[in-house]
Amino acid sequence: MKQLMESPCSECKGKVKRKTISQEFEKEGVKVKLSGFKAWVCSQCGEIYFEPGGAEKVAQAVNCLFALALAERQHKGRVIAHLS
Ligand SMILES: [Zn+2]
Repeated sequence: MKQLMESPCSECKGKVKRKTISQEFEKEGVKVKLSGFKAWVCSQCGEIYFEPGGAEKVAQAVNCLFALALAERQHKGRVIAHLS
């Protein structure tokens, strides 16, 4: 995950498009999934870019989901947050 600096993609020079995406994260065997959030995705290589501050907000949300998952001892399941 990288901050959006400027388009096109800094990895492959492909075009980046704003898309609604889902991402799954794993920590200590616990999986959480965040879906329905907007980010910029390279149409060629799939690199994900966030607007300034966006990556931090996603990281905060994911940390909260991990805290919830661990508190509820849902080690064998997964916590999914869907933004709509
Ligand atoms: Zn790319």
